[in-house]
Formats: sequence, structure tokens, C-alpha cells
Amino acid sequence: MTFDAPLRDYADPTLHAQGLWIGGQWLHGGGIPVTNPSTGRPIAEVADAGVAEAMAAVDAADAAAAGWRATPPRQRSEILRRIFTRMTEEAEALAHLIALENGKALPDARGEVAYAAEFFRWYSEEATRIPGEFRRTPSGSHNILVDHEPIGISILITPWNFPAAMATRKIGPALAAGCTVILKPASETPLTAYAMARLAEEAGVPPGVINVITTTRPGPVTAAMLADPRVRKLSFTGSTGVGRTLLAEAAKTVVSCSMELGGNAPFLVFDDADLNAALDGAMVAKMRNAGEACTAANRFYVQDGIHDAFVAGLAARMAAMTVGPGTDPATQCGPMITAKAVQKIDRLVSDAVARGACVVTGGVPLDGEGFYYPPTVLENVPQDAPIAHEEIFGPVAPVYRFQTEAEAITLANATEYGLAAYVYSTDLTRALRVSKAIETGMVGLNRGLMSDPAAPFGGVKQSGLGREGGVTGILEFMEPKYLAIDF
Ligand code: NAP
Repeated sequence: MTFDAPLRDYADPTLHAQGLWIGGQWLHGGGIPVTNPSTGRPIAEVADAGVAEAMAAVDAADAAAAGWRATPPRQRSEILRRIFTRMTEEAEALAHLIALENGKALPDARGEVAYAAEFFRWYSEEATRIPGEFRRTPSGSHNILVDHEPIGISILITPWNFPAAMATRKIGPALAAGCTVILKPASETPLTAYAMARLAEEAGVPPGVINVITTTRPGPVTAAMLADPRVRKLSFTGSTGVGRTLLAEAAKTVVSCSMELGGNAPFLVFDDADLNAALDGAMVAKMRNAGEACTAANRFYVQDGIHDAFVAGLAARMAAMTVGPGTDPATQCGPMITAKAVQKIDRLVSDAVARGACVVTGGVPLDGEGFYYPPTVLENVPQDAPIAHEEIFGPVAPVYRFQTEAEAITLANATEYGLAAYVYSTDLTRALRVSKAIETGMVGLNRGLMSDPAAPFGGVKQSGLGREGGVTGILEFMEPKYLAIDF
């Protein structure tokens, strides 16, 4: 495998120590092995920050804060635009790096890099359009002037499933707003984050504006940073369980929180749906990232009249997928992130089968090196099976039969999550009615993919707080300031 020069160090498996990126300096060290999920073998090692290094990152973000806040929006915008350009120039190397440390298939990795870079382009545009407000009070007593100010030092914590995009979806708006940040990527996929820090530096981001730390002690390290009064924002993407813990921690110093948490997306197919369109959408909604996406279709509810044709079509497409190493150009479905992830999927499937579910295709973990689970379709899954309620995070499609629209809506809403949902119907009135009735932050209407930098991404219920992307994403990193004015 060859890489362009600026990224070569990060992808070179023989280089066994990567530093923390603090204040524009590499602080070399080791302690966190990075594994290639396609082989199960280590490929690199990154430094393990303790509380002292985390506080050094807060100091660096603080030292850079006043200068970055005072940088004119146009100048911030141009720097963000240059990061977009650098990421686009290095897209192929970045995609290989993601495929290497995350395991996702190259087409998925390429799609992620393009999506991730777009957040810098979008927020380079939004940086110059920060809204304000001026109005007279209804009583005429005075005037109201509302300015938006950068919220302050922001901690960004991201998961392993989109190592580039989950970070840029936070860094883009934070920098556009005028905040300095400390990014803590997932321990499984830190190399992409460090590579992007380097690209950002090349694009002209001043030292200390972006800091990156990795740690094996995320709890105490994050708690120490949140306890520092200079830190005013926590933006987290990850599981609902960790999100709850962090909300409790942030409550101690009343730090503003944005939370992008777990999902359990229903995928509804009505009798009047276009079958081929529904199957195309199902493959995207289920198999992007081999099912390791928060928006992944987790429960397929298919109406009685179209159920059997849908199951047969989905099973044929799933069975035809090429499973293999992420970096192999022929691969369509890469490995899971860890052996533990395979065990969890196996437990959910075995349990469903023990309760009466039928395996239409797949259903057994693959032997050999690496962490592989095959594309799987289950039918006749009972509602009391854990797979009907838990986030699968893998290439397994459980299909449930329903009779009426009301029944489908009740089933779709029977979850503590509310991130994404999919509705397939050619009856526009029904499609809109059902979309409104589902308790969710986002709906794919006759579409298997909804993510876009210009759209507000986020969930309701226990899937999160706040939105990323779109025109409101920048406001997550700003505070309105109201001036009452007499003149
Ligand atoms: P996770 O276990 O919650 O970890 C996410 C991040 O939190 C990692 O960087 C992790 O660090 C860190 N972390 C873990 N415990 C922590 C603690 N006590 N204090 C501070 N940080 C802590 O989630 P994951 O397994 O990486 O990701 C999968 C989950 O993310 C799924 O539930 C998925 O739905 C969700 N997700 C949501 C969205 C969305 O936009 N709503 C997008 C993508 C993923 P370590 O790696 O060092 O443990």
C-alpha cells in the first residue's frame, strides 16, 4: 500500500509511537495499540494521555482562544476552506487509513472522507453568516440587540465508526464559531484524527486551536477537563450509556452539552412501496459501514403483502456481498471493529434463533483471522427478543411482519431511541403522515441515506440533545448575548 508523503507516517505499521497533538507540538509516547480489524493484528501505537496531558491541552486551547476568537470570520472561513481542500487532496490516503484502522470497505471509507471534508466547506461558508438580531420590545420600552459569541473551550469526544466525519462534524462548526477545541477520538481509531490534525496545521490553523489527545482513562481525563472553569462545552458522539455518564459529569460545572447518541432505526415498508427502491434503500441503510452506523436500519417492519418478496430480495442481495478486509478493493462488507463486537452480534442472533427466528442467510460468525460477521437476514423474529430492542451495530437485518399502519407506527416507536427512521411508500399522504407520527429526529422518505452537512443531524428521546450540521450546528458552539438598549 502506498500513501502520499504527508500521511505516510500515520499509516506506516512499522512506526510504533504517535504523539498527542497539543499546542501545535507532538508529545511523543505510546501505550495504546491500534489494531487492524481485518487481520486482528496491531498496526501502530499512540500515546496515552493522563490528566496532566489533558490539562496541558486545556492550557493550549486557552492560550489560543483569544486570538482565534478575534480572528475575523472571513479569515477563519478561509482556513476552514483550506482544510477542506487538503482533505480532498489527500482523500485516497485518508480513505486507506480509515479502512486500515476501522476495517470499513474502501468505498465506504471514500464516502466518509468526502462527507467529512464537506463539513469544513459548509462551515467555511457558515462562518461568515453568524446570525444576530435587532428588534423593539412589544411594549416599546427599549431595543433588543442579540449577538452570538463563541461559547469557549470545547471538548469533542468521538466514536470509532466514522473516525473522520464524527470529528469534522464538530471541529468545523466549533472553529467557525470561534472556539478552540480538544478532540478525544476513540482509542480504536486515533490515527485518522491525528492525520487530520496535521492537515489542519498545514491549512493554517494556529497552534492550540485544535488539540488531539488519546487516553485509556477517558472517564477521569474528561472529568478533570470538565471541572476546569475555562471549559464551557462538551460535544459528544457515542453510546447512550456513556452519554448519560457524561451529562452527569458535566452537570457539576453546568457545562453546555451536545449529545449524538445511539440509534435503533425502524425501516418501514408498506404494501404500496416500490419493491426495488425499498431493497436498494435497505441495502444502503443497513450495510453502509457494514451496519456499524448510528443511523443503520435496525428493525425492518414490512407489511404482509410485500413481506415475502422483500425478504427474498434482501436475502439475495445480502448473500451476494463480498466480505473481506477493508483495504481490499473487492470488499463490500468489511470486518467488525473488535472481536467483542462480533460476540455481541452472535449473542443477539443466537438468542433470536433460540426464540424461534429463522435465518434466511448468514447467521454464523466467520472463522479465521480478523473480526468478521456475514451479512445476515432473519425473519419471524419475536418481539421479545433482545435484537428487537438493542442496537445491533452489525450486518444483521431482522425482518418483522405487520398488518396495519397503526401497528407499524406503534412498533417503530416502541424504543427509548429516536435518531433515524426510514419509510417506503408511494402514497405521499401516507408517507408524510407516518413520518410525522414516528418519534425521531430524522426520516429517510423513500431514501436509505439522510446524512448531509447542510441538514440538522440528531435525535430525540435518548438518542441525543442538539443538532450537528445545517445552519443551526454552529449555534451549538455559541451563546446568545442580549443587550437591552435605550436610544
Ligand atoms: P462509546 O463507547 O460511547 O465511545 C465513544 C467515545 O467516548 C470514545 O471516544 C470513548 O473512548 C469515549 N468514552 C468512553 N467512556 C467514556 C467516559 N467515561 N468518559 C469520556 N469518554 C468516554 O461508543 P462507541 O462504541 O465508540 O460508538 C458506538 C456508539 O456511538 C453507538 O451507540 C452509535 O449509535 C453511537 N453513534 C452515534 C452517532 C450519532 O450521531 N448519534 C454517530 C456515531 C455513533 P474510548 O474509545 O477510549 O473508550
